[in-house]
Amino acid sequence: MNKRIALASLLASLGAISGQALAADTELNLYSARHYQTDEALYADFTKQTGIKVNRIEAKEDELLERIRNEGANSPADILITVDASRLGKADELGLFAPLKSDVINQRVPAHLRTDTWIAFSTRARVIVYNPTMLRAEQVSTYESLADPALKGKVCTRSGSHPYNLSLGAAMINHHGADKTEAWAKGIVTNFARAPKGGDTDQIKAVSAGECGVAIANSYYFARLMNSTKPDDQKVVASVGFIWPNQQTTGAHINVSGAGVLKHAPHKEAAKKFLEYLTSDQAQIYFADGNNEWPVVASVKTANPALTRLGAYKADTLEISKLAGSVTEAQRVFDRAGYR
Ligand code: FE
Repeated sequence: MNKRIALASLLASLGAISGQALAADTELNLYSARHYQTDEALYADFTKQTGIKVNRIEAKEDELLERIRNEGANSPADILITVDASRLGKADELGLFAPLKSDVINQRVPAHLRTDTWIAFSTRARVIVYNPTMLRAEQVSTYESLADPALKGKVCTRSGSHPYNLSLGAAMINHHGADKTEAWAKGIVTNFARAPKGGDTDQIKAVSAGECGVAIANSYYFARLMNSTKPDDQKVVASVGFIWPNQQTTGAHINVSGAGVLKHAPHKEAAKKFLEYLTSDQAQIYFADGNNEWPVVASVKTANPALTRLGAYKADTLEISKLAGSVTEAQRVFDRAGYR
């Protein structure tokens, strides 16, 4: 090892040790894959309340995971914040998180939305959007119905290997088993109006344009269009039907924004404090509203106009750890079904 690097890593580990030994941490290093203005106000408020300075590194999910792995024991990262249980589950599988024990969090966050290492802060639903001039709502009221041969040439989704669809597949594996999920995925592929392309908003717009009869999208993309003042977005919203899927059965598939304290975090106390802070009433509203999501703390209500208009719905209460644990299998199932 080069002398300078050796000295740097020695200093880094001394820093880590002294950081852990100190009674009170004065700063916190946050690795975040969320990029919303509202999150910034949230971090400023945490600093005001605790005196703990928040340093933020923002990057794409996979880059953050790679970076934390490469930094290893010398990583300055205290917390990883990202979206989708599949990504949080991947970080967990890589052994990046420290065990998390907090009475505050256990009281605030429902049991199915937390694991032993990471927790959800806000939820989003995977919903169905359809074109009422092409289909009736009753034809597309469940995820399962989208594989119905009657919908041939009408279904659109983003890529099957995107985390959002893999998580939906993982939930279906938990509810129906791998074989039925594979048959479903084959049905989806057979029913495609076009090969998967674009993000969820593109699918909603293609439904509005009549290129697709029906599509799957995360709720916040639809809520974002609802809250948009652009006439084109308003036209899209007015021209499509919105469905909470599986209301008579498993409930709408739920995913999350979440976070965990990292195994080599130099400021573990501050990190735990920050996660607890994120479950406070004010932080819950900020965090969820920042991306048109719902708070995980049941008593907290948002005043987001789009979410108020969409109203209440039955959500799938599948344990988030079980969901994350089936994502790898979902990828295999989708590969076999040719859902790419
Ligand atoms: Fe998204």
